[in-house]
Amino acid sequence: MTGEGSPPAAGGADFDVAVIGGGPGGSTAASYLAKAGLSVAVFEAQTFPREHVGESLVPATTPVLLEIGAMDKIEAAGFPRKYGAAWSAATGNAGISPLGFQVPDDGFGNADLLFNERVQPGVDRDYTFHVDRGRFDHILLKHAEELGAKVFSGVRVHGVDFTDRDLPALDIGLGPAPSRVHARMVVDASGRSTLLGRQLKVKVPDPEFKQYAVHAWFDGLDRTALTTDERQADYIFIHFLPLEDTWVWQIPITDTITSVGVVTQKARFKEAKDDLERFFWNSVATRPRLSDALRRTERVRPFKSEGDYSYGMRKVAGDSMVLIGDAARFVDPIFSSGVSVAMNSARLACADIVAAAGAGDFRTHRFDTYVGKLRRAVSTWYEFISIYYRLNILFTAFVQDPRHRPDMLKLLQGDVYDDEEPKALIAMREFLAVVEADPTHLWHDKLGNLRVSQESRCLF
Ligand SMILES: Cc1cc2nc3c(=O)[nH]c(=O)nc-3n(C[C@H](O)[C@H](O)[C@H](O)COP(=O)(O)OP(=O)(O)OC[C@H]3O[C@@H](n4cnc5c(N)ncnc54)[C@H](O)[C@@H]3O)c2cc1C
Repeated sequence: MTGEGSPPAAGGADFDVAVIGGGPGGSTAASYLAKAGLSVAVFEAQTFPREHVGESLVPATTPVLLEIGAMDKIEAAGFPRKYGAAWSAATGNAGISPLGFQVPDDGFGNADLLFNERVQPGVDRDYTFHVDRGRFDHILLKHAEELGAKVFSGVRVHGVDFTDRDLPALDIGLGPAPSRVHARMVVDASGRSTLLGRQLKVKVPDPEFKQYAVHAWFDGLDRTALTTDERQADYIFIHFLPLEDTWVWQIPITDTITSVGVVTQKARFKEAKDDLERFFWNSVATRPRLSDALRRTERVRPFKSEGDYSYGMRKVAGDSMVLIGDAARFVDPIFSSGVSVAMNSARLACADIVAAAGAGDFRTHRFDTYVGKLRRAVSTWYEFISIYYRLNILFTAFVQDPRHRPDMLKLLQGDVYDDEEPKALIAMREFLAVVEADPTHLWHDKLGNLRVSQESRCLF
């Protein structure tokens, strides 16, 4: 197999780089590499368009879409624009302000924010998008192909033989007999199926975060059911439920279709005994206004579940290989970080891969910059998410507090790839320590059970 139409690969390889998986991570990597003049192949097990969870973007995707030249296509697709995010309180609707910035009298009310409140480097518009992932992923994969990547759809990679460290061989399912493809470098972008993580036995399940999600699409939802501000209709909403560690996402997909999902801890999900529909409706029933609004809609996709999904890897790079996106690490989706991490990890990894190709050396140390930056970014997300679960009210209070709001916004924009430790995170960490240490603290009894150990913080 050779990359007909793409530049020839060096050293007897079929391709310079083989990318496993054509989701946002894989197609972004393929775009960067093809733009840099490398011969690149993407092997995608499914035929696009295909459904995928993870529909709300953060603005940190914008610089990547601009850099790979795909932004015009994403704009032309007409995805709903996402100008901001809102969180609705579990304790009812008392305290909702029409503008959303009010400090609620019970200290645990609604909060919202707009991306245009903070200038973000490399971001040239005040919105990002909510996307039907079937269409979004397809556009990005076709874009990579137009830039010169060779895309093999419906072709699964079964494993990679690294016996020859300079020329790994991919075993792929092409036709009735298995085939082998040789590349100088392998990028694993296989998502939560974590092909190389499992093969190399470096995958470590997260000891604390064991969430499940049940989700579907609904036509005709009144998206303002839990707010009095109509301008928020196209925001992502996170509705807290009065159940431990449980929340609901509300994401606009088209003018009338809304994606709604319930996220909860594994133990509670198991009680549902695989009856997804019953689990979903029982959960949303704890927020009657949301439940009533949902009952008045038509469900247009079957309920689907995603299970037990947080993990890390003991290593994300080796000789002639890197792991990116969900294939490298997955942390709870509460802040819509997944697609942004997939695309930015592709960006960072490709900078190292292109330099490695220039030097003709794909040994592990060539990817040190990528590994360091990814580790810092993902640890930031991880701690931010952990604090959110440990003390919800702290998150809500910080978002509403003018002293912390710009730094919270930086995190929520996905702007986590610089070297500095985020100020909001340091302040939240310190505040949490005070609450934990003082049983008489006003918020002490609001602490959740989920406690993150040092072990889980250092998953790679
Ligand atoms: C419940 C839930 C809610 C989420 N909500 C959000 C959200 O609102 N916003 C957000 O940004 N993120 C969200 N995410 C995360 C988001 O879905 C992922 O982070 C994102 O899809 C990662 O992109 P990726 O390219 O790494 O992997 P994927 O998008 O999963 O792509 C991987 C691709 O690899 C292919 N593949 C797998 N194995 C092989 C193989 N062996 N050979 C060939 N191809 C293979 C698959 O078919 C797939 O197309 C959510 C995740 C969950 C679980």
